[in-house]
Amino acid sequence: MRGPERRLLTFSAGAPHWPDEVLAAAAAELPGFRETGLAVPELGHRSPEWAALQEEIEGRFRRLAGVPADREVLLLPGGPTWQFALLPLNLRPPGMGADYVLTGHWARKAFDAARATGAARVAASGEAEGFTRVPAPATWDVDPAAAYLHVTTNNTVHGTWLREIPAGLPVPLVADATSDLLARRLPLERFAVVYAGAQKNLGPTGLTVVVARRDLLDRAPGGLPPILRWRDHAAARSRLNTPPTVLAWLLGKMLEWIEAEGGLDEMDRRTRERGRIVYEALEAHPDVYRLPAAREDRSWVNVVFRTRDEATDRAFLAAARARGLVGLEGHRVVGGLRASMYTGMPVEGARRLAALLHEFAEHPGG
Ligand code: PMP
Repeated sequence: MRGPERRLLTFSAGAPHWPDEVLAAAAAELPGFRETGLAVPELGHRSPEWAALQEEIEGRFRRLAGVPADREVLLLPGGPTWQFALLPLNLRPPGMGADYVLTGHWARKAFDAARATGAARVAASGEAEGFTRVPAPATWDVDPAAAYLHVTTNNTVHGTWLREIPAGLPVPLVADATSDLLARRLPLERFAVVYAGAQKNLGPTGLTVVVARRDLLDRAPGGLPPILRWRDHAAARSRLNTPPTVLAWLLGKMLEWIEAEGGLDEMDRRTRERGRIVYEALEAHPDVYRLPAAREDRSWVNVVFRTRDEATDRAFLAAARARGLVGLEGHRVVGGLRASMYTGMPVEGARRLAALLHEFAEHPGG
């Protein structure tokens, strides 16, 4: 039995567009995993087949992302919000503080989670400018006694990103790279810890990849329950308890596709091409579209824009839907419009959006 043909192209920030090839490969493999005689959801997480598959997924991720050899890669259940809470528990020893660069909605959530269990301090903030620009690393006031410094490499809600990842900071650099890991080349060796929810560039929702310098895992205090401790997850090879095997398998299918398409270099190139296409279309009609993010800090992954008023934004969304383009609503805290273009978005999708942007600009509002 075949499902309905897909008709829509989604620019959603949260549940991304999936390449047809990945869906087809997953659909073919789901009912019978290789020579096991079992369906994917029937694979036991203690089986040698699962252990081998997980090794394969992790190895592919390490290759694609360029993970340095002294890093642990953890596949953990739940979205990155879980890591907002686990990070300070694991990396901030009692009596120490942690520094945060506030560049948006999700950076603030990470900071609030750290404050809930200990000392956290703002090293730089873009809040006064409505998070339309990212404070330059040279202006960050980093406490050399902090346990770590946390940044968000791409601000999904505001459409900005940290252009240059600073090197040589006095404390370990930790990043939430949920919306740009594998969408652009990030120098992973500069981060002590990087974590990313899979639901954007890596595929499925409800799974987070954590890449952590092995020597830092010993910082976690002994009193923590094992399930909250990264070190225990690392020692158990991300199988401390029953892992979300189907999600991890789907992540693996997405990684296979990324590798076959040309890997990180090609993903980085496509991200820039899609971004260029859409920004050029928006900038061609300054009387119709507004771009709140500072030009030099613009994200090429999440393009945030608006028209002259909310009614016109709604007309744009309707025109988009009529052409099969959906998920273009802005985040609820900022409103407006947003085009999220993760690894699975074809460059042709950006072209379709650009064509609509030009067409709509001729008759905004109808
Ligand atoms: N960090 C960033 C950068 C995000 O974009 C998001 C979700 N959009 C999150 C964290 C939170 O993700 P989740 O709701 O899956 O925990």
